[in-house]
Amino acid sequence: MTLPPTVRDTLVCPVCHASLTDAGESLACDNPRCGSLFSTIRGIPILINQERSLFDVATFLKQAPTFFKPVGRVRRSISAWMPTLSCNVTARGNFRQFREHLRRRAQRPRVLVIGGSVLGDGMEPLVEDPAIELVESDVALGPRAQLICDAHDLPFRDESFDGLVAQAVLEHVLDPARVVDEIYRVLKPGGLVYADTPFMQQIHGREFDFTRFTRLGHRRLFRRFDELDSGITCGPGVALAWSARYFLLSFFDGGASRAVVSGLSRLAFFWLKYFDYYLVRKAASLDSASGFYFLGEKSRRVLSDRELVESYRGGF
Ligand SMILES: [Zn+2]
Repeated sequence: MTLPPTVRDTLVCPVCHASLTDAGESLACDNPRCGSLFSTIRGIPILINQERSLFDVATFLKQAPTFFKPVGRVRRSISAWMPTLSCNVTARGNFRQFREHLRRRAQRPRVLVIGGSVLGDGMEPLVEDPAIELVESDVALGPRAQLICDAHDLPFRDESFDGLVAQAVLEHVLDPARVVDEIYRVLKPGGLVYADTPFMQQIHGREFDFTRFTRLGHRRLFRRFDELDSGITCGPGVALAWSARYFLLSFFDGGASRAVVSGLSRLAFFWLKYFDYYLVRKAASLDSASGFYFLGEKSRRVLSDRELVESYRGGF
């Protein structure tokens, strides 16, 4: 198994939360009334509760695509040369801040990444710190996945982690409130969460895209956490670039012309993102940003809805 023994010891059955025993290439639930058996692929355990998940084990065993659809080599090479419309202005600094908070709490903090099969924007400060034990999970067999699990049913004991990262994840889950309950459960008391979630952004991830959040909607989701920091990741410049691109794409229902327009729109509108280096500092941008981050600490206190609305900041 690709997971270190310290992490292996925190695994539980995603169906009933009983402990798991190694059974050759599989993991077996120790609860006789549950009796679930979980396969591994290339040493990666697939700990999915199939009754409740959109994803099934057979897809992973076949190594069929889930969230990330395959893109042809030519298109991938052209795309790699084109400018992007997005620019996460604050991610790297936010992860540095997250790391400093973690290291004040524990000598060797253990951090769960959900949606972590590919490296997230600005995550280098976490990944490159040998003192941090990262556990990278996803519902996709991407290059960094150590574990396949669905964030609605995290297969870990309560209070297993010092930190948790959910970057560009909560818009892709069916029930964000349940996912945040799971995040709360697996964090130690005082454990840290970093979430980065879109607000003004068009569909991406095809059929796996369900929800957007205003800044206060995002804050309410994490009401059982004390806020350490929050703000804009991608600002109104990125939101405008995406809107212009998707306006043009609306004329094309697939096909080669759509692919051409998609590429040309990146050349036409990429420069708009540079406004965000200035705009992320403006309160008015909180009304129109492309995405927000929240850095918080697991607390016993719950933020009331009155406190929530009093915390509005913006241009009005
Ligand atoms: Zn079980």
